[in-house]
Amino acid sequence: MSTERVFNFSAGPSVLPLSVLEKAGSEITNYRGSGMSVMEMSHRSKVYIEIFEETKADLKRVMSIPDTHEVLFVPGGATMQFSAVPMNLIGKTGKADYAVTGNFSGLAMKEAKKYGEINIACSSEDKNHTYIPAQGDLKLSADASYFHYCSNNTIYGTEWKYVPQTGDVPLVCDMSSNIMSVPVDVSKYGVIYAGVQKNMAPAGVAVVIIDKALVGNEHPLTPKLLSYKVMLDSDSMHNTPPCYTIYMLGLVLKWLDEQGGIEGMEKIKAGKAKLLYDMLDDSKMFDGCADKAARSDMNVTFRTTSEELDAQFIKEATKAGFVNLKGHRNVGGMRASIYNAMPTEGVQKLADFMRGFEARNK
Ligand code: PMP
Repeated sequence: MSTERVFNFSAGPSVLPLSVLEKAGSEITNYRGSGMSVMEMSHRSKVYIEIFEETKADLKRVMSIPDTHEVLFVPGGATMQFSAVPMNLIGKTGKADYAVTGNFSGLAMKEAKKYGEINIACSSEDKNHTYIPAQGDLKLSADASYFHYCSNNTIYGTEWKYVPQTGDVPLVCDMSSNIMSVPVDVSKYGVIYAGVQKNMAPAGVAVVIIDKALVGNEHPLTPKLLSYKVMLDSDSMHNTPPCYTIYMLGLVLKWLDEQGGIEGMEKIKAGKAKLLYDMLDDSKMFDGCADKAARSDMNVTFRTTSEELDAQFIKEATKAGFVNLKGHRNVGGMRASIYNAMPTEGVQKLADFMRGFEARNK
């Protein structure tokens, strides 16, 4: 094994800021004079409650979350929210609208079908999810309890460039793979949820941001830990939360402040994405998989002229320290996930490596 850190383009769990890992390392056996690791603390202890509350407050501040909304930390990742969302919200009318623009929004839609009548508001499946349908193409139901979409499609490398307008129907959004990379007007949403293992922390929890007015109408069989009301009333501590993951999220939020917050991050990520997309557009060998108008700034999907050359590229890139570039089997080719914590240097060096590979294999 190498002693050097690699440039890790994994889609998640993914790269964390080096300074965050170092800070966590420096505190790992004795957190700030407590004499113990955060991993060893009671979640009810004063020292841990301080970490927990500060993390929640920082999240609210960083994302400008209004008082109408609350932050929940819910175990089970984003997938658990595929169930929690309909269980808590669909009871209002028994119906919901789902936009299917990729793998995870399709899974969310299928899970929701267990709980009510689902209208597919749009689907990009006809072109293997290479695009995002326009507002005018959404088939909305006036009596939907909510409209669900996924703002960034991790596997296909597409990203919604607009917030769907759904009138009085609350918006529910899976932001797992682009949360905190662009400013979001939280007041427009009924529920935002995200697994933390891409832009926020190591795996272990989903951040759920919920409009408190929507809470309290869950299906009677909703498990306690999936009930937004139970989680809201217990401040996400109905049982033991994933304490260490939440602590790490706190450290990442402090790091985000140092990058200029989400506005700062937005500029940095736009610069990083441009480095790769400019390379793809200049290249005769590499081609982007997603429609230009829908390109994700977080997951850049691309391929060469053949599967053999793709495999050779991945092999050589890995050897050179650019790892986890193999595309998902649904798309093939390559995928470079360039989340917030991926330094610009890593993206620049990857683009340079791709140019070199093209020159060597003309
Ligand atoms: N939604 C999106 C957009 C994702 O990228 C993922 C994971 N890659 C999920 C949901 C599922 O997340 P989890 O593994 O946290 O359940």
